[in-house]
Amino acid sequence: MINNSDLIKRDLSYIFHPCTQMKDHETLPLVPIKRGKGVYLYDFDGNSYIDAISSWWVNLFGHSNDYINQKIKEQIEELEHVIFAGFTHEPVVKLAQRLIKITPSSLQKCFFADNGSSAVEVAIKMSFHYHKNKGLVKPFFLSLTNSYHGETLGALAVGDVGLYKETYKEIMIETLQTPSPKDTTLKSAKEALVSFEEITEKYKDKISAFIFEPLIQCAGSMKMYHPYFLKEAQNICRQKGIHLIADEIAVGFGRSGTMFACEQADVEPDFMALSKGLTGGYLPLSVVMMSDEIYSAFYCDYLENRSFLHSHSYTGNPLACAAANASLDLFEKYDILEKNRKKSEYIAKKLEIFKKLPNVKEVRQRGMIAAVELKGYDFKERVNLKIFKYALKNGVLLRPLGNIIYFMPPYIIEYEEIDKMIDTAYEAVKAL
Ligand code: PMP
Repeated sequence: MINNSDLIKRDLSYIFHPCTQMKDHETLPLVPIKRGKGVYLYDFDGNSYIDAISSWWVNLFGHSNDYINQKIKEQIEELEHVIFAGFTHEPVVKLAQRLIKITPSSLQKCFFADNGSSAVEVAIKMSFHYHKNKGLVKPFFLSLTNSYHGETLGALAVGDVGLYKETYKEIMIETLQTPSPKDTTLKSAKEALVSFEEITEKYKDKISAFIFEPLIQCAGSMKMYHPYFLKEAQNICRQKGIHLIADEIAVGFGRSGTMFACEQADVEPDFMALSKGLTGGYLPLSVVMMSDEIYSAFYCDYLENRSFLHSHSYTGNPLACAAANASLDLFEKYDILEKNRKKSEYIAKKLEIFKKLPNVKEVRQRGMIAAVELKGYDFKERVNLKIFKYALKNGVLLRPLGNIIYFMPPYIIEYEEIDKMIDTAYEAVKAL
């Protein structure tokens, strides 16, 4: 019989984990998970944990969801995978049609990949290549300070989280960052637009695209900003021939309160990158959606050398597409956005208790993303680990980002589970 400690020992002999300083595991035990059901994860020793972070923001309808399981089982009996150059299959066509229907009307074609960072790579390469096909070489990309777009070199370059990026700066493409609005107020949005106007004016002939996380910078401490910023940034980019790349990898599929966060700012981007929640959190898949105008710039005779010859082996995997279609079925069947609206109102009320604590700087929320920012702790104190350990011991998986505790639970979370999730975090903060 496998138990927790046995599996941990074997794991540490062979595996280098993502985003982890492995030495931490000398004192911080890995958590081996045997199975998941609904919002719960279960280890090998009989402990259960509420997955308050949806396993890195991917899970929407709970672990081992009966309906999604069934749809993947049906698909696996038909076709597990097929090369996606020169071949196609039903789940991917169905998914593309559905995505085009539910995303902003500017988006009319889908280019599939298999993870978020790759989608960002596709979008930036395609934007650059589009301009080149039109006779313009525009080597820069513009992004917001404190933004995050993934870990591959291109995605890191357009991001701005020093912890991940700094080491690799010598081998990165050059990018420009403009200040993000410093809070959710209209005033901050307007202030940030002054710099945005200046930098886009100065480099307009050199910038291929502006890439942004709409309304919420998730990996950047769950910082949020006013939709007005994006609305105006869109107008400025349009005037200056700069593409808009909306990275909805973390906030798409209802997280922000609407199906896509761009809707709240009336943004009609040239590209939209989707992943994470796309498959309901089941399988790796991503997609870059684009306008017909972009697509057409690559449509030519093969020998003209305007083709976008980018590929990944698992592009458009049928099992992942079946999971994505099942996830969209659940959105349609159960009016999830309305249910989430009520749950997020409830979460907002529950979060009020934090505001009375002396070590809480700010509580912020948009849709099904909520964050509590602590104050008075040095980075070196690693309060995130203290909170992680306390919550885990009490049956909740929280994974604070530095001084920021955040909640991004699967949408099927019940009200009592919301209570447990938030009360545990509250007790963890009080215990610091
Ligand atoms: N963009 C955003 C906004 C993200 O939050 C992430 C992942 N946290 C990515 C891109 C990268 O996605 P992946 O981890 O699948 O490469």
